[in-house]
Amino acid sequence: MGVSKSLAVVVPAYNEGDGLREFHQRLATVFDRLDLDCRVIYVDDGSADHTWRVMQALAADDGRVATLRLSRNFGKELAMTAGLDYADADAVVVIDADLQDPPELIPELLARWREGFDVVYGTRDVRAGESWLKRLTATAFYRLIGRISPTPIPADTGDFRLLDRRAHQALKQLRERHRFMKGLFAWVGYRQTALVYHRDPRHSGTSKFNYWKLWNFAIEGITSFSTVPLRLATYLGLLTALVAFVFGIWVVVKAMFFGDPVPGYPSLMAVILFLGGLQLLALGVIGEYLGRLFTESKQRPLYLLQTVEPARADAPAESRCGAESEGDTETGRQMRAGSSGQSSV
Ligand code: UDP
Ligand code: MG
Repeated sequence: MGVSKSLAVVVPAYNEGDGLREFHQRLATVFDRLDLDCRVIYVDDGSADHTWRVMQALAADDGRVATLRLSRNFGKELAMTAGLDYADADAVVVIDADLQDPPELIPELLARWREGFDVVYGTRDVRAGESWLKRLTATAFYRLIGRISPTPIPADTGDFRLLDRRAHQALKQLRERHRFMKGLFAWVGYRQTALVYHRDPRHSGTSKFNYWKLWNFAIEGITSFSTVPLRLATYLGLLTALVAFVFGIWVVVKAMFFGDPVPGYPSLMAVILFLGGLQLLALGVIGEYLGRLFTESKQRPLYLLQTVEPARADAPAESRCGAESEGDTETGRQMRAGSSGQSSV
């Protein structure tokens, strides 16, 4: 298609200094072969290593590189959000910096886009280099969320994907603080299609997601995209009330016909403890949602930017980054959080 079309690739990176050059080399090779106006936006998610220096060096060598640096580590979801807010192109691709998603697949994503799809997401067939436990828990999570979320979230699909301008603009309108991006991408809808690919092992470094983080991430996903746990608490309450009612009748009837020699301390304890446990569980579930409501209500900006290069003067007001004052590391630049947070919970 026309040369005038543009592509922006958003790359969130946290402590990826060792692998970033290799990544850029492979991406640049892909760019060179494309008939598009290409750009890559590296987002340094408050790395503690030399990631930012590598990004600066890459930007100095290659005019297609833009760099954003967050004021601290905000997590991958927000790093991606920062990059997506900055991006302004006909097609936007989100890709990990660790070379698990091969940049060489971008032309295939673009081919599907040209067929008329608004969102092309990468679905993994194999997860090379990942333990069986991670594969098992990931599969279980995708199955669960697939069942309880009214928004269909494709299984075995990470963040690696292409968004058409329309889908990208739509996504930018979702300003919720608890951002489960895989769900948000799906929520946008439009014409979506999958591209099945091999997910490679990490090029260097280690995964930033340990099991505790993944567990919290799973809770984030479930509470952001489903209210089924709340309903479950209701049903559980109903069920125990019913059982308690039947048990109560039995106790009364038994006392009427057989007298009451006051036994039953163990059963009493068991029932009290069981009900106490259930109540705490239900409270906990409600607390999860309440806590999320609490953070949403604070209306904080989603993230703060420390440095943006080059600053985008043409950015729409909603996503404009403050003008960059060179070397001014103290003043975090605030990206406007946009319209009132719409939660899809
Ligand atoms: N990442 C990030 N901020 C974080 C954690 C990770 O920007 O707090 C980036 C990371 O640099 C990588 C991508 O998110 O580019 C995926 O992270 P990772 O490879 O650790 O996750 P996994 O592939 O194991 O799910
Ligand atoms: Mg990875």
